[in-house]
Amino acid sequence: RPRVLSGIQPTAGSFHLGNYLGAVRQWVALQEEHDAFYCVVDLHAITVEQNPKELRQNTRVSAAQLLALGIDPDRATLFVQSHVPEHAQLGWVMQCMTGFGEAARMTQFKDKSARQEQSVGVGLFTYPILQAADILLYQAHYVPVGEDQRQHLELTRDLATRFNSRYGKTFRLPEAYIVKDTAKIFDLQDPTAKMSKSVPGGVVELLEDPKRSAKKIRSAVTDTGREIIFDVENKPGVSNLLTIYSALTGRSVESLVLDYDGKGYGDLKKDLGEVFTEWVTPVQERVRMYLDDVASLDKILARGAERAREVASVTLRRSYEKIGFVLPE
Ligand code: ATP
Ligand code: MG
Repeated sequence: RPRVLSGIQPTAGSFHLGNYLGAVRQWVALQEEHDAFYCVVDLHAITVEQNPKELRQNTRVSAAQLLALGIDPDRATLFVQSHVPEHAQLGWVMQCMTGFGEAARMTQFKDKSARQEQSVGVGLFTYPILQAADILLYQAHYVPVGEDQRQHLELTRDLATRFNSRYGKTFRLPEAYIVKDTAKIFDLQDPTAKMSKSVPGGVVELLEDPKRSAKKIRSAVTDTGREIIFDVENKPGVSNLLTIYSALTGRSVESLVLDYDGKGYGDLKKDLGEVFTEWVTPVQERVRMYLDDVASLDKILARGAERAREVASVTLRRSYEKIGFVLPE
């Protein structure tokens, strides 16, 4: 079975709709036919300052959300990144393979560092390099992510190629697995920007009160005119709502457009608020269930980490050997 690997950050309490539609939904679908590894990337979270208590809680809440959204720990390997020390170890190796200018070209660093109020840490700069190690450790064929991660995946492939040509074939070159229709969910208040945890605004959070989400959806910025059509160029707001509606219900955008012929933006938003509430309510119940029994949750994660290490340790050892390290017996 082809291998997939993907990670999600345990930041700020809740995933948002972009995380779900752009990434986690694919994770759930892929676990059926693939050997899937999914991790909560707490090492990445500390690239910006974290409160220890909150980080611990957010890590568990993230894992609970993944389970509640449909990740099956008997099928997929679900784990916490810091439980598998090989990530940090191969991360160092990959840092030594990366050119300074190459790292400096990563646009996400430019965006994020521009938004940071405190001084920016080196970890935020080298983040994509650790991400490369995350992926290469598992010899993943595919990496299901949103469009915003494409550049990081290119870096991963470049680093794998460089290592392989310097030391001999060691790493598989992974491919991005990006589902076109929902590769980018836009902010409800600014439908030209991606919905993102780091830019609060029109972000629909999965764990907030659904009433609040419905209200955000009802007050989403739409476009001039009144016709409900899918036109990303001229009607980014309405098109974003149609994308979300279609993804949550499984109905095609075309059929939605036909349905809303002659109706107004208000109708679409009100209905989508209800669709979202209906979808998210049982998800929230399941999250609560997992968090009510932290001991069982931690056990699931420990089991995942054990399986992940079986794979990761083999790759790390092989790469250490190629580099010329004396391997401990
Ligand atoms: P940040 O803004 O801090 O980077 P984020 O909201 O992008 O946070 P991540 O944890 O970095 O969240 O991303 C998790 C996954 O969700 C990644 O695979 C990413 O590609 C995907 N993703 C994030 N935002 C969107 C979005 N608006 N549309 C589609 N996919 C998204
Ligand atoms: Mg991101």
